[in-house]
Amino acid sequence: MCGIVGVLGNHEAAPILVEALKRLEYRGYDSAGIATVNKGTLARRRALGKLVNLSDLLVHDPLPGKSGIGHTRWATHGVPSVSNAHPHRAGSVAVVHNGIIENYRELRAELAGIGLEFQTETDTETVALLTQHYLEQGLSPVAAANQTLDRLQGAFALAFLFDGEEDLMIAARRGSPLAIGHGDGEMFVGSDAIALAPLTDRITYLEEGDRVVLSRTSFEIRDAQGALANRAMKTIQIDVTQVDKAGHKHFMAKEIAEQPTVIAEAIRHYLPVGEDAVHLPGAGIDFSQIDRLTMVACGTAYYACLTAKYWFEQIARIPVEVDVASEFRYREPPIPGKTAALFVSQSGETADTLAALRYCEGKADKILSVANVAESSIARESDLALPIHAGVEIGVASTKAFTCQLSVLLMLALKAATDRSEITAEDLQAHISALRGLPNVLAAALEQNDNIRQTAQKLSEARDVLFLGRGLMFPLALEGALKLKEISYIHAEAYASGELKHGPIALIDKQMPVVVFAPKDRLFDKSVSNMQEVMARKGKVVLISDAPGLKEGGEGTWETIDAAGAR
Ligand code: GLU
Repeated sequence: MCGIVGVLGNHEAAPILVEALKRLEYRGYDSAGIATVNKGTLARRRALGKLVNLSDLLVHDPLPGKSGIGHTRWATHGVPSVSNAHPHRAGSVAVVHNGIIENYRELRAELAGIGLEFQTETDTETVALLTQHYLEQGLSPVAAANQTLDRLQGAFALAFLFDGEEDLMIAARRGSPLAIGHGDGEMFVGSDAIALAPLTDRITYLEEGDRVVLSRTSFEIRDAQGALANRAMKTIQIDVTQVDKAGHKHFMAKEIAEQPTVIAEAIRHYLPVGEDAVHLPGAGIDFSQIDRLTMVACGTAYYACLTAKYWFEQIARIPVEVDVASEFRYREPPIPGKTAALFVSQSGETADTLAALRYCEGKADKILSVANVAESSIARESDLALPIHAGVEIGVASTKAFTCQLSVLLMLALKAATDRSEITAEDLQAHISALRGLPNVLAAALEQNDNIRQTAQKLSEARDVLFLGRGLMFPLALEGALKLKEISYIHAEAYASGELKHGPIALIDKQMPVVVFAPKDRLFDKSVSNMQEVMARKGKVVLISDAPGLKEGGEGTWETIDAAGAR
């Protein structure tokens, strides 16, 4: 799912669209394109690869016009190519689309049956062809777009532009975010408020199922049932400098470096200075009335939930189930009484997590969410939204959002333990002061960049890497393996250390680095035994621990990293 922008403006649209798409570049994409209407004529330009290719094309072959739509594509149906790039055009309509049209095969067969020809391999082209088909039947652009939207299944955000219509844009969202930006005599559309940040700070977030008809001076939103809908306009503050790398090589490096600051911010919101208890926003939640917690998320957020399970169970003595959202929603599990359901998502728009939340509506006693985007659908639709205050996270592989999610989840577990009288005042204070010291610990860990870089260089030569951890370190090992896969394309797997002997040990040889997460705690000796087993098979151990752990277990290892920074 990539980027959509739209402009009904008073200036040339092409440069505005390209600039707005650049602000969405962080999401990754394989091709890009724009369409404009100029003197009533619809035209488009598309290019494979980076936006600079589109900009270069526009220098040689400009696209005038003050109304336009733009897109960065992340191919789901059809290879990345110029012809598959958006906008897709059929006759008088051009369309940009994020997401997937799930019934596109049926629609393609139907359209082919009436003699229409496809120019692309995408699911999106069915939307353009269907709209054009309805236009040819004499429907107005609004009626044709509505009729088309009624036929679509799947998750999407769409924007339509029409030949001969310089003051009209239609947009819709279902399962994929979309916002309207209000200018002075101008109107904008964006799949992400960041895209619109320098154009306007007045934003209306469309809700699930919404459709909007825009002109330069008006907008009419209808909900999924077709009724006129009143959606609030918000003045948002997106610091455009947050979309800047601030001297770092890339956004991920910037966001890793930001962790001490943003975690301090998250902690300050829940543990105000001078307070000795966790404060939740709004009416909060009373965990003494809750018997069971169900946590649901995807990817990195799922690993944050797996980590928090240890805290809720050990500190608050509350039984916890953790589920991957895409499995949870289709498994349709029973939700017994006195269950709180907790959903974790960086963007707050993760489609499977949102669907899982909706499944729990009316079934769970309380719906909680931990999200980074306070205006997101998941935050809005929960009884209690717990923001993580991480600031805009641009890097696609989550870093600071993960650690902020963990901080908020730990504070929530402490609140649960307090409500359920499962924690002594001393233990609570010990946790609170550890949390308050966390930004310093993180800063010290980050100072080890150079050591970590050396280890990373060695690891970069591996084809496969195994990650091991026990207890709390197991979900962190899972997250470590995910990060290595996503960022370096090196195959990585994580196991609970105790599972080593039940299979993965067969893979260990001198080619196989094994990253072990093991602080000096009550499980440390068991981890050392696992490391011995690995080293006995000539496996190369990278031990990530604290100073006492490295002192005791560092001998014979290939590399060591002091995660607490106390070297
Ligand atoms: N499914 C569409 C395609 O493959 C849209 C992909 C996207 O969200 O960028 O073209």
